[in-house]
Amino acid sequence: MQCLICQAASKTAHITGSWSEVKCSAGCGHFRVSANLVAKMKFKNEFFDIERARQWLEMARRERLVPLISTYDYNVALLHRVTKDRSDRLSGRSGKPITSE
Ligand SMILES: [Zn+2]
Repeated sequence: MQCLICQAASKTAHITGSWSEVKCSAGCGHFRVSANLVAKMKFKNEFFDIERARQWLEMARRERLVPLISTYDYNVALLHRVTKDRSDRLSGRSGKPITSE
């Protein structure tokens, strides 16, 4: 199976009813993605922003060895933004909404 983040060939360690566990040697490492999110992304044909997802995983790994990416995390931190504001990275900010207007 493919890595859910970067689409590289990866080992899927585990698939349960509530999440898929992936071990990606291309750089994403060991993580889980909630089954809801996998289904939602398939349905909408959405993909992770690789760089953003890997940064998020790096942060999340400080607290959990195998981070779980939930639909909530995806919506809050990982969703592709249409805006091109790449300077505003996940540098420890809390989820404060950013409005440009
Ligand atoms: Zn990967």
